[in-house]
Amino acid sequence: MLGHSHALSGLATGAVTLPWAPVQGTVGQVAWVAAVGGFAMLPDLDQRGATISRMWGPLSDVPSGVVGTVARGHRWGTHDAVLAPVVFGFLALLASGWYWSSLLLMAVAIGLALRALHFVIPGRAENTVIGNLLLSWGGAWLLLEHLAGPLWLPWAVATGVLVHIAGDALTSHGIPVPVLWVVGRARLKLSPLRTGATLEKAVLVPLFFATAVAFAYVNTAARDLVDPWLERLSSLG
Ligand SMILES: [Zn+2]
Repeated sequence: MLGHSHALSGLATGAVTLPWAPVQGTVGQVAWVAAVGGFAMLPDLDQRGATISRMWGPLSDVPSGVVGTVARGHRWGTHDAVLAPVVFGFLALLASGWYWSSLLLMAVAIGLALRALHFVIPGRAENTVIGNLLLSWGGAWLLLEHLAGPLWLPWAVATGVLVHIAGDALTSHGIPVPVLWVVGRARLKLSPLRTGATLEKAVLVPLFFATAVAFAYVNTAARDLVDPWLERLSSLG
């Protein structure tokens, strides 16, 4: 799937799963939705030279190459529906033990989300290396300063990674057969969808977008802000 489809499906899943998310308060909810949205791009950080790999210049491009080598190629290890959420979740659990590694992890999520959704964001700052670095590290710092503990991060990582793999399972390229691909290199193809296919643009993207907005409204304090206005409007009519 295209990058923005992954990010939107992640934002939608983040909004839908809010009632079970291990976070508190509005800042926690924003962090959860943003993190699941961003981490829904994480598995594609497995090759050098891709648009998202270059979001921080060599700082993200070189590590993406390393990930690709460890994962034995683009769309292999990082797209394993069993191993990837477990390994990424475990790494995130280790990272959540220290402030700076938590900050890095959150910044990666925000950077990826900004990069994927740049077409709906005014200006072009998030598309430049410096602009993206400033926005993602600044955003990560703001969110983490106002949150009790980053122990929810591993859950956001595992959820985002699973959403990504589910999305790619729908494409013609498919996903590796979980765990067994290590010996046989076999792939699993669930649908004849092509990346960038009409169905993805015409059906999935609007569906993800509507789901994200609807559940963000239902599951957060946005409801308390919007409802009085709706009442006022209906009393006028
Ligand atoms: Zn992918």
